Amino acid sequence: MKQNGFIVYKLPKLSILLRILGFDVYYIPKGNYHSVIGLAKKENKILISRLKLLRKIPWILYLSSDNIDEQLKEIISKLNLLIPQDNLFTRCSACNSWLEGISEEEVKMEIPYSVRGKGYWFKKCKECGKIFWNGNHLITLKKKFDYLNITYINDNNEKNR
Ligand SMILES: [Zn+2]
Repeated sequence: MKQNGFIVYKLPKLSILLRILGFDVYYIPKGNYHSVIGLAKKENKILISRLKLLRKIPWILYLSSDNIDEQLKEIISKLNLLIPQDNLFTRCSACNSWLEGISEEEVKMEIPYSVRGKGYWFKKCKECGKIFWNGNHLITLKKKFDYLNITYINDNNEKNR
């Protein structure tokens, strides 16, 4: 399946998780669903929503669960999503832009004291400047992704699809 990314309507946690997995997510926190549908059509993106009245429209992915893990499972199975392993932790979960690897030395004044000198990698968002590192929360996330049976592929396979 060719996919141009997602529009996620009113599901903030899900949009964060999908971005961490490397997907292009345009998050819409509020607003009229008519304009959201219009945008999804125009941009050729898959609209993900929990709005019951949209569940019969075939190209809109209606999620039946309120549980974030179940939602991710549902998306992965319905869309047969494979996650390019290299895409993991490449996108800013806050604003959807690309992250850039950066040395601890360069960001040491911007990170909590408690994460310094631990050997973590650091990445900074090119757009909003938010800094990420592979602390405990990332280990927890990876465990979650393993538990959800996420299938990773390498980038070469991705290009052949
Ligand atoms: Zn950002």
